[in-house]
Amino acid sequence: MNMLTALLFGISFVVIACLNPGARRIGWMAVSYGFGVLEPASHLIVAAGGDAQVMNRLGPSGFLIGLTLMAPALSLFHQRRPMWLGCALIVGPGVTYFTLRPLGGDGVEQRLVVQCFFAASMILCAATAWRDAPRSAMNRVLVAVFLVTGLHFLAKPFLAAPLGFGSERDYLGSIYGVVSQASTGVLLVAAGLLILIAVLQSLVKTHHDQARIDPLTGLPNRRALEEAFDRRVDPAQHRIGRVVMAIAILDLDHFKSINDRLGHDGGDAVLRRVAQCLDTVRPALGVAARLGGEEFVLLMPDQDLEAAHPVCERIRVSVAALTLPDLPDLPGLSVSIGLTDLAAGETLTAALRRADRALYEAKAAGRNRCILVRGRSPTSTRPPLSAVGARA
Ligand code: GH3
Ligand code: MG
Ligand code: MG
Repeated sequence: MNMLTALLFGISFVVIACLNPGARRIGWMAVSYGFGVLEPASHLIVAAGGDAQVMNRLGPSGFLIGLTLMAPALSLFHQRRPMWLGCALIVGPGVTYFTLRPLGGDGVEQRLVVQCFFAASMILCAATAWRDAPRSAMNRVLVAVFLVTGLHFLAKPFLAAPLGFGSERDYLGSIYGVVSQASTGVLLVAAGLLILIAVLQSLVKTHHDQARIDPLTGLPNRRALEEAFDRRVDPAQHRIGRVVMAIAILDLDHFKSINDRLGHDGGDAVLRRVAQCLDTVRPALGVAARLGGEEFVLLMPDQDLEAAHPVCERIRVSVAALTLPDLPDLPGLSVSIGLTDLAAGETLTAALRRADRALYEAKAAGRNRCILVRGRSPTSTRPPLSAVGARA
């Protein structure tokens, strides 16, 4: 049973590693469970008449390597440096001892020495999970499971005699054999499940983040922008016009000619640089996002038009001053901006549409400027949509 369970965990980790290029490192966990198969397999081979001398050395050695490999597997998955020295200090002496120790007539002391290696391996795994895994309740439970497993290994030698452990050959038929295999199996299944869930959670988070980040610039994309808007706008307050927010659409001027001149890669470098600039100049609570192409949006929560206009001007001036060391031929950049503020109860799409109209006006008026269009009157008494043009 334990052999099949270890095999299933091994296969699960192989499948996850193969299907997710970002999770290749979890393949180490498959190697760990692969080694873990050796221990229950060795008991089966002995029971079937195999060479007990070889199996009683191979089984514990494989089990120790498998257990200990869980620690570097966890570290590598969390992109931390594994405690390789700790692993070597457990596996080296452990495998040497299992290979050279005299077999037969095991007393409590000799069994305790064997189990101490397994317990040390579990302490290393607990320390690794504590150090490298995020501080979540689930990872705390994983640390606890490793520690309990370590304690259970230390308790085993004292249970062997009362539970009637005779010789290795009838180990699987003894009550001790059943208790030992079942308890270790349950604890290692618990650890395996917790690690599996953590890996799957982390993959879901990675995919969730990737679906919200523009791969070229690293800025939030339109979906992330909409979610940021929803997070910052309290519907009840928004309905009665209590939410203050400025929204700007920015579009690089004559970007097609920049692409034509510098090539698509050069254009991409410019987009990345502009995104960096936006992210630097935006207000602390602001969100800069890339809508697509050479079009960006800046959400400015708690800023009215009067406060947001100087921010847009700063962006316009900063973009015009941008240089790229790798692109000395970069022609002067400029950006046109349509700026508006959120009207009571209005959707982001409606506000963006109005900002886009202001952007269109800025383009028509000669580019490299910011045009403001009001969504709400400053006193909330005048009707919306009184346009104010601002040329820098
Ligand atoms: P305007 O001043 O009116 O905005 O003119 P424009 O040339 O900036 O606008 P237009 O819409 O004519 O061209 C946008 C160009 O942006 C065309 C397209 O090839 C380019 N583009 C869109 N996405 C990307 C991208 O991801 N990378 C690069 N390098 N170019 C892109
Ligand atoms: Mg453009
Ligand atoms: Mg455009």
